[in-house]
Amino acid sequence: MIELKNIFKWYNVGGARTFVLKDINLRIEEGEFISIMGPSGSGKSTLLHILGNLDMPDEGSYHFLEEDVYSLKNKKRAELFQSRVGFVFQSYHLIDELTVYENIETPLIYKNISGSERKAIVADMLDRFGIVGKKDLFPNQLSGGQQQIVGIARALAGSPSLILADEPTGNLNSQQGEEVMKLFKQLNEEGVTIIQVTHSEKNAEYGNRIINLLDGQVKAG
Ligand code: ADP
Ligand code: ADP
Repeated sequence: MIELKNIFKWYNVGGARTFVLKDINLRIEEGEFISIMGPSGSGKSTLLHILGNLDMPDEGSYHFLEEDVYSLKNKKRAELFQSRVGFVFQSYHLIDELTVYENIETPLIYKNISGSERKAIVADMLDRFGIVGKKDLFPNQLSGGQQQIVGIARALAGSPSLILADEPTGNLNSQQGEEVMKLFKQLNEEGVTIIQVTHSEKNAEYGNRIINLLDGQVKAG
């Protein structure tokens, strides 16, 4: 599903290159549940952003679903990721001015899905995640755990084949965090590929493989 070859990312600081990612080579198969771990500043978020086309490397190639990502025109590249990838962030990134219902609906509007179809999909998500009763509330009326559930529902509304999650339980208590991990596990069993950045060994145990980063490189073993 994913193949990164010789990925480098750097910033020019005071005329010198500071490397964030140094020669990353990775293969990730469809159906995997991967945890990216490593100390703060090791390049985890940057790697996740590159995988989701939110950021681009300075060198290297990326094949996603057999497509040579960096040979695609911007518009085609954006479309490829928009239709296949759902993002879950640590701080939810919900839109404060929109209700739970509208937050989940938003990506579907961008995808030009018809009104009646959107209604059906959002209703399905609300039902599946047990938040039907919350549909008219605004994010600030929900607990952190509930907001993250809405964030996941929104990520899944577009039926992505890949979920990218950056510290998805970072703002949750342990019980809420466990619920989110169980949900990921269930989605993974249904065939969704999951890549999460996490500091938690416990969270990583839900996955099938750990990728350890250190100073922008994949640690062997
Ligand atoms: P992690 O997610 O593992 O904490 P990041 O991918 O967020 O690591 O960041 C890796 C490194 O890149 C950090 O040392 C960070 O300071 C550096 N970095 C990120 N963005 C910039 C930038 N715009 N300019 C310079 N350095 C940056
Ligand atoms: P997080 O805490 O989520 O890992 P960071 O603190 O690494 O976030 O980065 C927050 C923002 O600041 C990002 O947009 C990143 O690109 C930028 N940034 C991080 N480190 C640097 C840096 N050394 N110089 C300039 N920008 C940076």
